[in-house]
Amino acid sequence: MTFTDLCLSDEIIRAVTEKGYTEPTKIQAEAIPIILDGHDLLAGSQTGSGKTAGFVLPILHKLSDKSIKGPSSGRPKIRALVLVPTRELAIQVTENIAAYSTHLKLTNMSMIGGVGIKSQIKRLQSRVDILVATPGRLLDHVSQKTIDLSGVQTLVLDEADRMLDMGFLHNIKKIMDLLPVKRQNLMFSATFSPEIKRLAEGFLNNPKLVEATANNATAPLITHRVYPVEATKKRDLLRFLIVNKNWHQVLIFSRTKHGADKLAYFLSKNGVPAEAIHSNKMQNARNRILEEFKTQKLQALVATDIASRGIDISDLSYVVNYDLPNVPEDYVHRIGRTGRAGKEGFAVSLVAKEEIRLLLDIEHKIGQQISEEIIDGFAPENYADFRVISRSKDSKLAPKKKHNFGKVAAQSEVKRTSNNGQSTFAKNKSGTSSASSKKPHSVSGSPSSKPSSSTNKPRNYIKKSNKNG
Ligand code: AMP
Repeated sequence: MTFTDLCLSDEIIRAVTEKGYTEPTKIQAEAIPIILDGHDLLAGSQTGSGKTAGFVLPILHKLSDKSIKGPSSGRPKIRALVLVPTRELAIQVTENIAAYSTHLKLTNMSMIGGVGIKSQIKRLQSRVDILVATPGRLLDHVSQKTIDLSGVQTLVLDEADRMLDMGFLHNIKKIMDLLPVKRQNLMFSATFSPEIKRLAEGFLNNPKLVEATANNATAPLITHRVYPVEATKKRDLLRFLIVNKNWHQVLIFSRTKHGADKLAYFLSKNGVPAEAIHSNKMQNARNRILEEFKTQKLQALVATDIASRGIDISDLSYVVNYDLPNVPEDYVHRIGRTGRAGKEGFAVSLVAKEEIRLLLDIEHKIGQQISEEIIDGFAPENYADFRVISRSKDSKLAPKKKHNFGKVAAQSEVKRTSNNGQSTFAKNKSGTSSASSKKPHSVSGSPSSKPSSSTNKPRNYIKKSNKNG
């Protein structure tokens, strides 16, 4: 299928061609005709699937369609409203709209908190066709009576699951009450929790459903890898991996802002140019850091979950979970930063014993066990025992038949890499990871090392080293 098959205007096709898009992604191919037909839409689509163009292109098409009569006089009102959870995502969506509408006479505006409201009020006094806003700042304008939403024909809730996670439900409902009743509603969400379904029922009118990827699935080109580590050695292991495997543009997730700052400081003091990005930083500092990360002045960016939303770097290869997220949905969101637009991505998790419970939840969510690589000197001695026991206590992961731990452990193979770059693999009879004497494989330790891809086997440990280790 081509963009021309989707009956989009020549100006839009020219713009996407200039962006280098040759064909629509799955979500675009499915969602665009539905939106052009005027239906409400509930789309299950992860970040990186091309969902933004999936709703922006048909909106642009409709807004620029000269056969649809607009107001005969006066300045047109805001006709499309896109609500997003974070400032970064707002900026990113606005940039996309600007690129896709480059050959059209349509205007857009990004309305976010953390920047002065006065310039936004001034901007609202001239024409805005598409408004991209975070809910809080939009409501600030509503309370100051500086915005008129009575002309909105299309409402988009982007990353709706994240909006609910961030507690925006009440604000979203308030905003909806201010919009014309007759409008088109489009809702995009990476996951479909019961709360999302409830919101969709209340907000969408007889919607068409599009699921571009399997429900709650992660992007298909992502290789997941766990590095067991003692909690106190995490930052040293991370530095070791980045330096020895020569990882670039590494996006690292920290659970707390303070933790993000400390880690970025440690990395930059130890040869890895890094900065932290989180909501305590001023918006212009966040923009600068993001720009430096994009242009690879920074090798690593340490982010909290909220700040990371909207980071769109087309060839971001490495996402590191320095701390595992408390809810498995966040894992899906985090790793949505990599493996985008058909590119390969690597989702790396540094897992301390205390986090195994969280790891098991994540494995349930993504429906696979994640391969492990043990780097000698960093992993806890008894990690494998601990993991086997945790699994056997886990009703969903435990084998159906009664077993002893030795048997379960006997199936497991773990890749070990010594901290001078040598790898060994072992079938582990005792259930511990003491695998040193078996089948040595040399790993390159080459600068371009990436975690090797693995298939989803029942126990998904790495069987052999790929050439890059
Ligand atoms: P999104 O899921 O909207 O965040 O988009 C993820 C990335 O895919 C962005 O960098 C887009 O520029 C890119 N993209 C969107 N649509 C296409 C397409 N049809 N072909 C190639 N890349 C695309």
